[in-house]
Amino acid sequence: MTWQTVIGLEIHVQLSTKSKLFSGASTGFGAEPNTHVDLVDMGLPGVLPVPNKDAFLKAIRFGLATNAEINQVSSFDRKNYFYPDLPKGYQITQMAMPIVGKGSIKIFANGEEKIINITRAHLEEDAGKSVHDLFDGETGIDLNRAGTPLLEIVSEPEIANAKEAVAYFKAIRQIVTFLDICDGVMAEGSMRCDVNVSMKKVDDSELGTRAEIKNINSFKFIERAIAFEIDRQTKILESGGSVVQETRLYDSVKNETRSMRSKEEANDYRYFPEPDLLPVVISDKELEEIRLSLPELPEQKEKRYINEVKLEESEARIIASSKTMANMFEEACLKTDDSSLVARWLVGEVSALLNKDNIEIDESKLTSNNFAVLIERISDKTISGKIAKSVLEEIWESGNDVDAIINDKGLVQIQDESLLENIAKKIIEDNPAQVNAYKAGKDRLFGFFVGQVMKETQGKANPQSVNEILKKLLK
Ligand code: ADP
Ligand code: MG
Repeated sequence: MTWQTVIGLEIHVQLSTKSKLFSGASTGFGAEPNTHVDLVDMGLPGVLPVPNKDAFLKAIRFGLATNAEINQVSSFDRKNYFYPDLPKGYQITQMAMPIVGKGSIKIFANGEEKIINITRAHLEEDAGKSVHDLFDGETGIDLNRAGTPLLEIVSEPEIANAKEAVAYFKAIRQIVTFLDICDGVMAEGSMRCDVNVSMKKVDDSELGTRAEIKNINSFKFIERAIAFEIDRQTKILESGGSVVQETRLYDSVKNETRSMRSKEEANDYRYFPEPDLLPVVISDKELEEIRLSLPELPEQKEKRYINEVKLEESEARIIASSKTMANMFEEACLKTDDSSLVARWLVGEVSALLNKDNIEIDESKLTSNNFAVLIERISDKTISGKIAKSVLEEIWESGNDVDAIINDKGLVQIQDESLLENIAKKIIEDNPAQVNAYKAGKDRLFGFFVGQVMKETQGKANPQSVNEILKKLLK
C-alpha cells in the first residue's frame, strides 16, 4: 500500500519591533531576567494594552509580499489557558479576524518549483519563559519575552515531504529577512514552528488524522521530526491501527517524537473577543504607503540578475536566496565590471565553504565589505585567483581584513615583467631536457614550465604574464 504524506506548518515569526506588542517594554534579546517587563507584561489588574503600530506595519508587509489579502479591519481575541509563564491567564491573539488572509509563496525543493498556499497570518503575543536550571529545586519565571510580537503564519496542508517543509520554512525565512520584519536568527528563537503531519492513501480524498509536533527551531530538526513521524504513522497504519490526533514533542537528543497530550486532553481555550482592544482599521492610503515601501524581493531580484546582470539561472537563484548574499553580490559588483566573476566566487568558493561547515552565510566571518575588497584585489590583479582562494580560507577562519592578510603574508602578485622573465629564463636553463622535449613537439610540457615559475614565486606570479613570457622564451 502506498501512503502519501501531508504536512502543514504553523510558523511563529518574532517581529523585530523595538517594543512589545502591547507595552513599551523592550524586546531586546539576552537581557537580565525580568528587566524588559512592563506592568502590562506582568498582567497586573487594571492596566490596559496599547497596540504597537509597527507590528501591524510589519505584518502587512509580509501579507503584501506573499500576495495575500490584507484585512483592513482586524481584531484581537483572548485565548485562555493557565501556565506559570502567562501571568494574565490568557494570550492575546487574532482568531476571528487576522490581519493577513489567504496568500501564497513559491518554494524550490527536489529540483522543482511549487506554490504553497498560506491560510492566514495573525498577530499574537509571546509568553514568558520558565527557567528550570537557575535555582536548585525551584523554577524561575522570566517575563522578558512575554508580550513580544509574533506573526503566526499558517500554511495549507499542501506540503508533501520533509524537503518541501524545509524549503517552505526557508522561503518564509528568506522573505521575512528581506522585508526586515524579523532577524531570522533561529538560535535565539526568532523563528519556530509547529509541524502537522498525517498520512493518507494516495487516492483518498479526505486527509488522514494528524499529529502536531510543537516548537521546532532548526531546519535539521524539522527534517528529522518529519522522518520520524512518517515512519511511526506508517507502521501504525500498515498494522491496521489508526493514528490518534495529538500534540507531540520532538526530542532532538533521542531523535524521536513523544506524545504530550491527546485531543481528549486538549485545552478548551474559550476564545472570546478581547474586550480591552478595539478592532484595528487600516486605511487605503496607509496600505498603499506600505506597498510603496516594499524592497525588491527575492523573486524580483532573481529575475533582474538573470535578465539585466546576465547571470546563469542557478547562480541567480542561489545569490538571491539570501539577503546577506545578495547584498554581498551587489556591494562587490560596485568594485568590478565583471559581475560574473563575483557570482562565480559566491556560488563557487564561498558556497563550498558554507557547505563544508554546514552554515548559513550570516553565520560566517565573511562580511560584505571584506568580500568586496577581495573581489577588488582579484580584479586589479593584486592577487591571483589561486592566492585569493587561500585568502578567503584565511578570512573564513580569522575574519581578518583582506589587505591585512595580503600584506602580512606578502601575497601581492608579482607583476614585474622583467623579474618574472629572469625567473623563467633560469628555469629554462635548469631544465634543458624538458626544453628539448617541448621543442620536439611535447606541448603538454608547457604546463611544467608554468608550474615551475609558480613554485619559484610561491604562486604569486600573474599567471597571464607567466604564460606570455614563457611562450616568448620557448619559441
Ligand atoms: P490548530 O490550530 O488546531 O492546530 P488548524 O486547523 O488551524 O488547527 O491547522 C493547523 C495546521 O495544521 C495548518 O498548517 C494545516 O495546514 C495543518 N493541517 C490541518 N489538517 C492537517 C492534516 N490532516 N494533515 C496535515 N496537516 C494538517
Ligand atoms: Mg496548531
